[in-house]
Amino acid sequence: MNNVYYGKLIFELSREGRHGYSLPKNEMSDYRMDFLPSALLRSEAPALPEVDEMTVVRHYTNMSNNNFGVDTGFYPLGSCTMKYNPKINEDMAAHPSFCNLHPLQDVNTVQGALEVYYKLQESLAELAGMKEFTLNPFAGAHGELTGLMVMRSYHMSRGDEKRTKVIVPDSAHGTNPASAAVCGLDVVVVKSRPDGTVDVDDLRPLLDDTIAGMMMTNPNTLGIFEHSIAEIAKLVHECGGLMYYDGANLNPMLGKVRPGDIGFDIMHINLHKTFSTPHGGGGPGSGPVGVRAGLEQFLPNPHVVRKDLDEDTYRYDVEFGDNSLGSISGFLGNFAVMMRAYTYILTLGHENVKNVGPLATLNANYIKESLKDVYELPIGGVCKHEFVFDGLKDKSTGVTTLDVAKRLLDYGFHAPTIYFPLLFHEALMVEPCETESKETLDAFIAVMRKIAEEAKTDPEMVKSAPHHTPVRRLDDTLAALKPVVTYAELSSMEN
Ligand SMILES: *Cc1c(COP(=O)(O)O)cnc(C)c1O
Repeated sequence: MNNVYYGKLIFELSREGRHGYSLPKNEMSDYRMDFLPSALLRSEAPALPEVDEMTVVRHYTNMSNNNFGVDTGFYPLGSCTMKYNPKINEDMAAHPSFCNLHPLQDVNTVQGALEVYYKLQESLAELAGMKEFTLNPFAGAHGELTGLMVMRSYHMSRGDEKRTKVIVPDSAHGTNPASAAVCGLDVVVVKSRPDGTVDVDDLRPLLDDTIAGMMMTNPNTLGIFEHSIAEIAKLVHECGGLMYYDGANLNPMLGKVRPGDIGFDIMHINLHKTFSTPHGGGGPGSGPVGVRAGLEQFLPNPHVVRKDLDEDTYRYDVEFGDNSLGSISGFLGNFAVMMRAYTYILTLGHENVKNVGPLATLNANYIKESLKDVYELPIGGVCKHEFVFDGLKDKSTGVTTLDVAKRLLDYGFHAPTIYFPLLFHEALMVEPCETESKETLDAFIAVMRKIAEEAKTDPEMVKSAPHHTPVRRLDDTLAALKPVVTYAELSSMEN
């Protein structure tokens, strides 16, 4: 692009003396700040870029055009549920009545917000088949940690102190073993069968009185429903352990199956996946944790409760007593995320929320069946919301999953998740979500088939993709090891 603003840093656009504002005279400018120690006072103006307003607008608009998001194109990232985030969610989260609240405000002045908290707790409990939810955790992994702390508190409260191990399937999301380790639990891995589900014969000998519980994702990260779940839950309960449900991707279950009904005791949900709030880039998230009846007392404080049923008034308080695991976040978590999730639930309503899981499942199976003659499908049959290919069927071209992912960018599609789960060498994990139209799915299928064809006719071109993106193939290992995060570092590299 031949554009003076494009690809430049805002500092490079700076020209001495340019302004992007005209502010009224500061009436306090004669006021001397003598009461502040001089060491804390700035003696020179900060070296900020000097730019006019139009330059700022064009600079940031051009930068945003370099970005890829759900609002710009199809984003089939597996194990991520990159569904469309309806704009009404944003309107509600940005509503001045909510977004200007302060957590230390008098409780009588925040009744509306507390009602949203309370009703979201109730809605999630109903959708998940759990007794009570806390909305305090900030992310999925934070929810896992909270849930495992509940699990540990439960055993400790019974004086059952030797339960220090948690069972995790080899297909699990990496946060599962990580959260268990942070919680001070030892991880025991249970193997998967060739069909991708937990191997019950491998599980049996692991179960004894040192097991605190088992973490499961269902459907698992391969998008396969764990059909032995009833038996697994029975075995774990018989040995005295609790069942933890990783509901980061509750999406495929919505309206069909409730984790609480199939043997799970504790779970978390990622609102920033299933409940259509934005995610990516480490932004604010929310990982509410639900528990079955009898485990509420271990949940964190504070908690929102209904004070007066008749008057519809709410309070938030140190609700759970001595057995509570304490506080795991500042105040009550990320309210704006909850506002979006609650809006999403209300806009769908009872009737439409039932269609989320089935539509997500239909879309995933449609893509899988349309591509399995050219991409290797290691586990056949009906999947749920996502599935995994093991690279191209024809491996003779030398074109890898990474190459296919990079080439997709040239066609305006975000890449699927690659090289996860770790069960296959060339894993390529696709999750389309229920929000995509058939036209989009067809366009994606056509491009995936085209890339399979290009791999045969021009493998070098695919291996050197992307060709049409603002930046080409990057060294992601180096970027992770030596990130360049400031303007000063970048300019010193260029000189
Ligand atoms: C995304 C995800 C997590 C982790 O959620 P974060 O909010 O990123 O911490 C855990 N488990 C599964 C299955 C996931 O897909």
